[in-house]
Amino acid sequence: MFKTILFATDFSPSSEHAFRYALSLARKFDARLGVIHVINEPVDLRGFYVPHISFDQLEAEIEEGARKLMENFCAKHGNDYPGIETFVVPGIPYDEIIKQAQEMAADLIVVGTHGRAGLDHVLFGSTAEKVVRKSPVPVMTIRIQE
Ligand code: AMP
Repeated sequence: MFKTILFATDFSPSSEHAFRYALSLARKFDARLGVIHVINEPVDLRGFYVPHISFDQLEAEIEEGARKLMENFCAKHGNDYPGIETFVVPGIPYDEIIKQAQEMAADLIVVGTHGRAGLDHVLFGSTAEKVVRKSPVPVMTIRIQE
């Protein structure tokens, strides 16, 4: 029985694929479904390093862009599901995903096995792997067919 499911998306094709599983489980169990995107914030944008430059505007625009992507993602894949809630937060993805799962007392986290390819991955490693390793909540990983 899954009452609360948290799905994490980076808006990649892999997470679109994984979302179908999260949504169909949520429908089956009539569960509350959280969808989280974490704005990867490896660099301190708060003006700590360069105090005379304000990054507030940049941060606001990044957040606005991320919210739009989240809206489109849900509209495309499951906006009709009544129990859906979205979260867009800055931070370290695996950390925020686990925190959100605990906050909403989720009994399952769903992630894709692959995210957006590229430099991020080389620099920061796999979010899915870290969630699996560190989450106290059960995690379901979905691999996209290639
Ligand atoms: P990765 O392990 O980084 O290749 O990403 C695998 C999966 O982790 C993705 O399919 C998403 O489900 C999740 N994920 C990766 N990055 C993020 C992020 N910034 N916010 C939310 N979920 C993410």
